[in-house]
Amino acid sequence: MILVVIEHDRGALATASLEALAAARGLGSPVAALTIGASADGLASTLAAHGATSVHQAHHALLSDYGPEAWGEVVAQAVGALAPTTVLACGTDRGNEVMAQAAARLGQPMVANCVGFDDVATGTWTLTRVRWGGSLLERCTLEATLKMVTVTHHAFESAESPAAGTVAELPVSLDASLARTVVVERVERAAGVTLATSPLVVGGGRAVGSAEAFAPLEELAGLLGGVVGCSRAVTNNGWRSHTDQVGQTGTRIAPDLYMACGISGAIQHWVGAMASKKILAINTDPEANMVVKADYAVIGDLHKVVPAISAEIRRRRGG
Ligand SMILES: Cc1cc2nc3c(=O)[nH]c(=O)nc-3n(C[C@H](O)[C@H](O)[C@H](O)COP(=O)(O)OP(=O)(O)OC[C@H]3O[C@@H](n4cnc5c(N)ncnc54)[C@H](O)[C@@H]3O)c2cc1C
Repeated sequence: MILVVIEHDRGALATASLEALAAARGLGSPVAALTIGASADGLASTLAAHGATSVHQAHHALLSDYGPEAWGEVVAQAVGALAPTTVLACGTDRGNEVMAQAAARLGQPMVANCVGFDDVATGTWTLTRVRWGGSLLERCTLEATLKMVTVTHHAFESAESPAAGTVAELPVSLDASLARTVVVERVERAAGVTLATSPLVVGGGRAVGSAEAFAPLEELAGLLGGVVGCSRAVTNNGWRSHTDQVGQTGTRIAPDLYMACGISGAIQHWVGAMASKKILAINTDPEANMVVKADYAVIGDLHKVVPAISAEIRRRRGG
C-alpha cells in the first residue's frame, strides 16, 4: 500500500496533495491517504474522488494547527500501524519538512522533490528529482525497505477517480513535547500589488546595509509604481520580512523590470528572479553574477545610483 500524506491548512487542502495522489496511483499499489487533524476530516470525499481507496484520519488536541514535529510523529505512527511500502507527500515546504521529520523518526532515507519514478518494480528505485530551485535535474537511486518520497508541485497532474474510499480513524499517541514548533501568528498579506504580481520590483541586497537604508529603494519603487524585494542576506539580517524575499526559498517574481541593487545573483536568488522580462543590475562589481546575466547594468555604488535615478524621475516629472 502507498500512503499519501495530505497537506492542508486548517482544513484547506493544498492542491499539490492531489498531485501526490496522482503520482501514487501511477506507482500501482492501492493508495491510502492520511489526514492530520480534525479540521481535515471534510477532505475525505475529495481524496476518495482522487483515488484514495482508504482515508485515515488522525485526531489529537496537538493537531489543531500545523506543527512539523507532531505531524512527523503522526506519519511515523501511521507507518507502524498501516505498514505501507511507500509514503508520498507533496514537495512543498511543509511536505518536505513533515517527511524529513518522519524519516528521521523511522531511520529511513527520504528523497525530496521528485518528478519521475523508474524501476519501481524492483527493490531499487531510480528517481529523478529537482534541485537548486529547478535549475538542475538529478537522477538518484533509492534502496530502502520503506520508500519515502516527496513529489514536486506541478510535476504530476491531479486526476479524478470513480472508485469510492473508506474512512477510518487512525489512533495516535502524542505528548506535549511534540509541540516544539507551533504557529503563533498569521500575518495577512496586504491588499494590492504583491511581490509576485508587481510589474516592477526594486530589489535590495546585503550591500544596502540596514533596514533604514531601504528608504531610497522604497522611494524609487513608489515613483515607478512597484514594490521592494530583497535577497536572503537581507532577511537573514532581519532588515526586511521574509515575505519580501526573492528566490528559491522566497517568492518567484516575473516583473517587466527587476532592478537588483547590491545583489550578487547567487543561484538561489537567480532562480526567483530569472523570469523577469528585463533586469537592471546596480553593483560595484562588474563580474557579479547578477551583472553578467542582466540586460542592463550600472557599475556603481547603489547608495548614489538609486537616489540619482529617483531625482532624475522627479526632475523629468517637473518636480
Ligand atoms: C538552501 C538555500 C536557499 C537560499 N535561498 C535564497 C533565496 O531564496 N533568495 C536569496 O536571495 N538567497 C538565497 N540563498 C542565499 C544565497 O546563496 C546568497 O547567499 C544570497 O542571495 C546573497 O545575498 P546578496 O546578493 O544580497 O549578498 P552578497 O552575495 O553578499 O552580495 C552583495 C553584492 O553587493 C555588491 N555591492 C557591495 N557594495 C555595493 C554598493 N555599495 N553598491 C552596489 N553594490 C554593492 C557586491 O559586489 C555583491 O555583488 C539561499 C541559500 C541556500 C543555501
